[in-house]
Amino acid sequence: MKHSISIFWRLKDNHYKIYVTKCGDCGRVAPLKRLKCPYCGSRNVEHIESRGFGELINYTVSYYRTEGSEQYLPRVVGLVKLDEGPVIIGEITDVDLNELSIGTRVEAVLRKYSSEDPNGLIYYGLKFIPVIKK
Ligand SMILES: [Zn+2]
Repeated sequence: MKHSISIFWRLKDNHYKIYVTKCGDCGRVAPLKRLKCPYCGSRNVEHIESRGFGELINYTVSYYRTEGSEQYLPRVVGLVKLDEGPVIIGEITDVDLNELSIGTRVEAVLRKYSSEDPNGLIYYGLKFIPVIKK
């Protein structure tokens, strides 16, 4: 994580919540907060906070090692189709790789991003975990 604490604070909505943009004209839903619809260009848009649930539609497992990253390996990065419609990229965590598969239902949770900051700061953000069936 290379953000200063002030930049991380300014971007906190992007680290702690998932937003989608719903177009009031064409009705389509796009990821992130947008000022206008990426499909039709309309500025008649509404920002909606996602519930954070979705389906894993693909993923990859990374063993790429950087200084201080050994404790987090392997990392699983997935494409998650949110219940609201858009597909976003997210890290999948707290999962047994043998039990992970395409189609797994996942939910966003708060997890540690990094604690290697030279000032001792610990950064948190959203990752996805498999939904536990009850
Ligand atoms: Zn539109």
